[in-house]
Amino acid sequence: MQDKELYQHILGLSSPWTVRDVKLDMENQEIRVQVDHPRGTRFCCPECQQDLPCYDHGEERQWRHLDSCQFKTILFARVPRVDCPKHGVRSVSVPWAEPHSRFTLLFERFAIEVLQMTQTVKGAMTILRLKWDATWHIIERAVARGKARKQPLPLPRIGIDEKAFAKGQSYVSMIYDLDNSTVEAIS
Ligand SMILES: [Zn+2]
Repeated sequence: MQDKELYQHILGLSSPWTVRDVKLDMENQEIRVQVDHPRGTRFCCPECQQDLPCYDHGEERQWRHLDSCQFKTILFARVPRVDCPKHGVRSVSVPWAEPHSRFTLLFERFAIEVLQMTQTVKGAMTILRLKWDATWHIIERAVARGKARKQPLPLPRIGIDEKAFAKGQSYVSMIYDLDNSTVEAIS
């Protein structure tokens, strides 16, 4: 199996997205996966879902994905934009990440699971090889997901956890919905 095909499978990419290139960067211990779509692919407006031709592409973006063995795995792509008659020029949604995130959905989910399991945020940061800002960004996004999913039903399983950060001088309380890997609240 070729590396491109292998990554196509393990990333779970679906049409129209394919792996164009896989590069191993030994110096930075990274695998860099270039993701692309065929010419002429049509995309939906992210607001109204109207099917439209590709207008142009934004700057190349990158998303941290789950590691491949000990290597950080980074997805690279230029996100297509559509020119919607109603909503103007908009970047389309990509299936592997939420808008504006620097991480794939799978990485964010894994990071929240690690945060749930570790005694301290610092411990999770070490395992995930993340800086504080990036970790906080992931927690905030999980909180946003938890809020967006608010339903009148009570939460099925809740975890409450106190995390120490900054060498144990401060604590942050995190309330999790354990079934959906979302963070319900932090204080
Ligand atoms: Zn639209």
